[in-house]
Amino acid sequence: MTAPVRTDPTTVRVALDARSYDIVIGRGLVASLGARIEALRPRARVFIVTDRNIELHHLDAVEEALAESAIAASQLIVSPGEASKSFRVFEQVCEAVIAARIERGDLVIALGGGVIGDLAGFAAAAVRRGIDYVQVPTTLLAQVDSSVGGKTAINSARGKNLIGAFHQPILVVADTALLDTLPAREFRAGYAEVAKYGLLGDAAFFSWLEANWRDVFAAGKAPGSGAREHAIAVSCRAKAAIVGRDERETGDRALLNLGHTFGHALEAACGFSDRLLHGEAVSAGVALAFEFSARQGLLPAAEAARAVRHLAEVGLPTRPKDIAGDLPDADALMALMAQDKKVKRGMLTFILVRGIGAAFVEHGVDAVQVRAFLSEKLAER
Ligand code: ADP
Ligand code: ZN
Repeated sequence: MTAPVRTDPTTVRVALDARSYDIVIGRGLVASLGARIEALRPRARVFIVTDRNIELHHLDAVEEALAESAIAASQLIVSPGEASKSFRVFEQVCEAVIAARIERGDLVIALGGGVIGDLAGFAAAAVRRGIDYVQVPTTLLAQVDSSVGGKTAINSARGKNLIGAFHQPILVVADTALLDTLPAREFRAGYAEVAKYGLLGDAAFFSWLEANWRDVFAAGKAPGSGAREHAIAVSCRAKAAIVGRDERETGDRALLNLGHTFGHALEAACGFSDRLLHGEAVSAGVALAFEFSARQGLLPAAEAARAVRHLAEVGLPTRPKDIAGDLPDADALMALMAQDKKVKRGMLTFILVRGIGAAFVEHGVDAVQVRAFLSEKLAER
């Protein structure tokens, strides 16, 4: 990796009373990790959970940064991929943390993408009834979404993220240089969640993304524009504000699920595999949510088309026909959706939009209309 060009970090505060914490965003921040931890928890010992890909690229730099502050660290390296969010690997993480004599007052560091954040965060929530942890997200998706807000989980044989806890980190360090080694497809998938923040509540940010997305993507080759850091900071600010209002998703936090009901059905139809990454499913789901909203007369078709155009322009899927391989029919997709969302008297809950930047929760979406819409979209294939 080339030496990261440092930029002044941006701090976003997640305001949750006693559980408040900072998200620090900037290029080259890993070098300051030891000092930041030392400032928060003097003399804490740390346990790093990461995966083999991240170990390869970034573990040495993290260990060096900790050593500079004389912080003793041990670690566990798990296999990359969703399969690590299992009871078996969860047990391994918990046992390793206990064996390393990490106690209350010490720290777990989740160094990785969404998988590691969820797994290590849940282990931190469970061991000794709760140990503090720090998120060092290494994917764009994790930097703008999963590392913020305290949702942690592993998977059940019956569904994703069904076993977990709310456990807020004490610090999130989002070093944008870590993303330089991320495969392009993973970066693009994470970008769907960035665009989502503009589309759900910030039209000006969406316009900015339309004009500047190339700099967000290319930051590794031409650091210094600050575009990537800006996009991540705005995304984190949006998520922090929503989480600050509704930590446990009893209301507003549901807005973050824009595109996720359609998306989840497509993801499930593809078996949660490499065929369709989470962010890719979200992109297709957001596009469908905009088009469905336009169909309902909530916004002009041209405005929905503008949202879809941007997602397509960056190379994300926006239509069922952009997804390789077979997809089930509309009834089967409805069934996959119904597992996710309760159908009450033929009505579904969806995040719909009145325009770019104007999402809202609608509880009375007619399942018959959704089915007809999906069936039409699938017929385009
Ligand atoms: P997500 O954050 O999208 O949920 P994962 O935790 O599954 O994703 O990570 C996606 C893939 O990218 C995994 O194979 C992981 O090992 C790999 N990965 C994560 N961060 C990096 C990075 N900074 N450089 C290279 N590969 C990475
Ligand atoms: Zn998501």
